[in-house]
Amino acid sequence: MNFTNLLPLPLSQAPDPKDPLEYLSASRLKTFHTCRLQWYFRYIEQIPTTTSPALLVGKVVHAVLQAWNLARWRGGDSSREGMELAFAENWTRHCEEEGMVWNSPEEESKERESALNTLRHYLTHTPIPQEEKPEAVEVRVERDLDAHGLPPLLGIIDLVRAGGKIVDFKTSARSPDAGMATHQNEIQLACYALLYREATGATESGFELHHLVKTKEPKLVVTPMAPMQPDQIRRLVRIMESYVQGIEREDYVPSPGLHCSYCDYYTQCRKWRGGTQS
Ligand code: SF4
Repeated sequence: MNFTNLLPLPLSQAPDPKDPLEYLSASRLKTFHTCRLQWYFRYIEQIPTTTSPALLVGKVVHAVLQAWNLARWRGGDSSREGMELAFAENWTRHCEEEGMVWNSPEEESKERESALNTLRHYLTHTPIPQEEKPEAVEVRVERDLDAHGLPPLLGIIDLVRAGGKIVDFKTSARSPDAGMATHQNEIQLACYALLYREATGATESGFELHHLVKTKEPKLVVTPMAPMQPDQIRRLVRIMESYVQGIEREDYVPSPGLHCSYCDYYTQCRKWRGGTQS
């Protein structure tokens, strides 16, 4: 890829253009408001990225928890032994699909052991009773936002517990602070609230963030949250409006900060010289 191709282009000239305003999603909103140039590289340029060990672990753990929730939902095998088999299958499959290249067999073995221990810890200490039947698992929901002059919102909710409690699973390297976790995940959870209300006609009873912490001794931190309040929904709608306006202006400027340490596009970003919309 040459330098010119790394500059933000008018949408009409972008490679493999997909309409960036076809729909809204929590991850698109969050990425855009973290750094517009990162959003551009991901969703317009669609620059391929490599999967880090931490991301792989997150994907595998998420897939096994999905299998666990689906098994409880459908009355299948949700036993610990069944989940350990699901873990083995998912580890192999995700390593192949993501084209993982390990520095050494020891590195893979260490990450695999850490992921499995974190999962075992969760299944032992989860507040969700084995016999509790979920209300929904990995449901894809769409909400029309035409009344707000916005594209539709799309999303997939990990789990809705009995009684309308929305659960989202996270893997992290350290224990989260409850207030900060609530703040940092507000866009995503407010999107889920809109989607849940659309799908059921009811208001969610609350939220739980389940952080699976991959420390040497794994931990589980559950952060409960109340239902979304009207002012939080108004904040979300304003964030959506700002997103749409920014894309319509093709306003893709970098926002350097702490988040750059985790950005996949640092090299491309350093080559950006202010090329923008016109
Ligand atoms: S390195 Fe930082 S400023 Fe550059 S695109 Fe990534 S997040 Fe944005």
